[in-house]
Amino acid sequence: METTFYQELTTISLSGELLSDATCEKLLTATEIELLPLLDAAYQVRKTYFQNEVQLHILNNAQNGYCPEDCHYCAQASSATADIEAYPLKPDTEILLEAERAYESGAYRYCIVMSGRGPSPKRVAHLAKLIRTVKAHYPIEVCLSAGLVDVESAGILKSAGLDRLNHNLNTSEAHYPKICSTHSYQDRMDTLQAAQTVGLACCSGVIVGMGEAVDDLIKVSKALRQLEVASLPVNFFLPIAGTQLSGSVTAQRSVPTTLTPDYCLRVLCLYRFLNPRAEIRVAAGREHHFRSMEVMALYPANSMFIDGYLNAEGSTASRTLEMIRDAGFTVKTNGDDTEQLKQEETERRDVLLKELRVLRPRMESDA
Ligand code: SF4
Repeated sequence: METTFYQELTTISLSGELLSDATCEKLLTATEIELLPLLDAAYQVRKTYFQNEVQLHILNNAQNGYCPEDCHYCAQASSATADIEAYPLKPDTEILLEAERAYESGAYRYCIVMSGRGPSPKRVAHLAKLIRTVKAHYPIEVCLSAGLVDVESAGILKSAGLDRLNHNLNTSEAHYPKICSTHSYQDRMDTLQAAQTVGLACCSGVIVGMGEAVDDLIKVSKALRQLEVASLPVNFFLPIAGTQLSGSVTAQRSVPTTLTPDYCLRVLCLYRFLNPRAEIRVAAGREHHFRSMEVMALYPANSMFIDGYLNAEGSTASRTLEMIRDAGFTVKTNGDDTEQLKQEETERRDVLLKELRVLRPRMESDA
């Protein structure tokens, strides 16, 4: 493919124009489109808005399991038989301690994630109090993922100081019934619109590799562009044993059965071109699917998690920081913590991760 083709991708993206569906499909599937020039074209867009900075997020799985919903990809779903440790909402003291650790380890944002369909009014009031306390103690951004939320609840959380509400679209409207039967794509869209109504920034993304077609990935990326989401996590499906989808995801149309590093990187590039100003996070599945190509994800993406995911282990924080620095990127932080402090804290977190291994179920491929 001519150099001008790749340059044009950057130009179109930076000028705010939309790539055609045909071009998007080509980026994901055409073998004549080479990976390195494609990554460079996406990097030019990333660099324009985010320079060489990487935003790090730490997830606090504040409540695990006990979910009545049946999202087929989720280890916490009512239909899942995954070997996870279920627990109700953690005590406030524990959530606050984890916020402190997140701040001290250099995380830009602390994400509180709870299982469940959505919070009751009582739970919303509790979360609002918790968010106020975190914000009063640490200069860290707070993002909450709590299921379906209406305008009233979103307003209460916004007034408490919440920076972002996370609610992933996950896949296209057409593919949604194949991944969940207890709520709809429109339910998720309503939650995002409720957040926007009260002025909350939205974090919403996708899970790649759930049997969708490339067209579904293009559609959901364009829907997220329309919503102007501030943050866009791109997850790559982790086949956790006991979830409805594990082992049953087959190559439907043009999506590979097993996500390859090449395909995953192409998806990130496509999402960058279509959402040039969004904080694009290479999220769950990074270590599992990108394998030796993991560092290349930093060229289209400007954000990642450290310390693992909801129900799956990730790289240690120290290894992730090392990878970022080795590739010449810098970590964006909110505080005045020093490199030394980050290093000391990350070493400490390595020990913590080992202690938490019991919470992380096996992958199908490890069985
Ligand atoms: S994704 Fe959320 S709503 Fe769906 S089953 Fe898992 S915890 Fe429940």
